[in-house]
Amino acid sequence: MSYYSTPAAQKHYELSFPWETPPERGDWQTIADGVVWLRMPLPFGLDHINLYLLRHDDGWVIVDTGLGTEQTREVWERVFIEVMEGAPVKAIIATHFHYDHAGSLGWLAKRFKCPVYMTRGEYNALFVSPSSKGGMSWQMAQFFERSGIPKDTVPGMLEIISDDNYEHDAPDSYSRLVDNQVLRIGNYDWEIVIASGHSPEHACLYNRQANLFISGDQVLPRITSSVCVTATEPDANPLKDWLESLQGLRVVSDDVLVLPAHERPFYGLHYRLGQLIEHHHAHLDELLVEMNEAKTADELMWFMFPRVRSSFDILLANGEVLAHLNFLLGEGRITRRLIGECYRYQRFIGSSESAAEMQVTHV
Ligand SMILES: [Zn+2]
Repeated sequence: MSYYSTPAAQKHYELSFPWETPPERGDWQTIADGVVWLRMPLPFGLDHINLYLLRHDDGWVIVDTGLGTEQTREVWERVFIEVMEGAPVKAIIATHFHYDHAGSLGWLAKRFKCPVYMTRGEYNALFVSPSSKGGMSWQMAQFFERSGIPKDTVPGMLEIISDDNYEHDAPDSYSRLVDNQVLRIGNYDWEIVIASGHSPEHACLYNRQANLFISGDQVLPRITSSVCVTATEPDANPLKDWLESLQGLRVVSDDVLVLPAHERPFYGLHYRLGQLIEHHHAHLDELLVEMNEAKTADELMWFMFPRVRSSFDILLANGEVLAHLNFLLGEGRITRRLIGECYRYQRFIGSSESAAEMQVTHV
């Protein structure tokens, strides 16, 4: 994205979906000349991911890969024949490192001996995600303890973290994507737009000629992407990155058809950006009121997400609450005190000097 481009005006005041229904899971749909939408199945509550296939000169470029499962590979085998008609995959682009996006990255790259394009932050993340194989690290135990999560809830969450569906499939090399980079694929130029918060350095792809924007998990039409603090970096402030990134995406034209990684392609990018930003500010306001008295992250999680039940949901909800709390800590709006083994968060009412003092990192 050029730093000189001015934000485009908002033209849409609601979301509209050109396709009433998505393709069946494992099936596909042509979006534009040389752009195919592939609906890859996922074995979760969220039962699919959208992958995109871009026609290249003498083959195809694919954007994201699906999980590293037999089911994914079976769909790909059909796509190689029925969509690609035997033409090779020339390159793979991974928007970010998450399993549903990058789970078959190594397998595909090996099969076609083709380059993998991704940002450095995402490639590195393939190697640093914590696994609970071989027992829980003291860091992870401390992370859950400090959130105030009851001890009997933790084993279920560990099972999720070590699930085989979340195995990484890192290729041995990659080609680095950077912000504003232009990729020429077939007749189109796709500009890389980097965003952060859902993952370290998420790549979106912007095609000005055809007014298409492959948004990955950065902008989804109805559900909101997780913005989570994890045990790897307990003091991270991903919500700050996320809100800044959403604001930054306003330089993409509001005319684009957004091609998201989940749900259906839609018009109304700027309207959706506004909704997403508001969604988090509403959460921040609600949490602040709740913190007139000191609370643990776990207590705040049940306030914010009273309907969570499964270990998977609790894991995400805890990470999401911590993201909001770390954001408020960064703004000097709340305090955090370690009482026993558990952090307690409380709304900050004090002078601007003491707020400035709070910004100092106490090692
Ligand atoms: Zn993701």
